[in-house]
Amino acid sequence: MDGIEEQLAHSKSGKEVFEDMKFSQCTKRFPDEPPKTCPDCNYDGLQGIELLGAKEGTLFWECVRCEGRFLRYTKQTTIKYLNIASKLWIDLGGLENICEELPN
Ligand SMILES: [Zn+2]
Repeated sequence: MDGIEEQLAHSKSGKEVFEDMKFSQCTKRFPDEPPKTCPDCNYDGLQGIELLGAKEGTLFWECVRCEGRFLRYTKQTTIKYLNIASKLWIDLGGLENICEELPN
């Protein structure tokens, strides 16, 4: 399974990453707390997923059983944060390469 980090590291846009991610067909948003039970499989184990560089705190919720993902913010907002993370990680990657090339 491709993690979100891996997809972002491949320079995809936030929108592409969003579309590749298995967001649930359930369009309800859960702004404060994760759903008590997964709307897709009824399992009661959902965790908040935090995305380094995009935003402090949970960006979306994920079911630990079916890996269904549920929105905390609107689709547009989620994509905006994915874009921020994507750009940041590409910049950091570039920075790392520059450092490696510097003479000692
Ligand atoms: Zn589930």
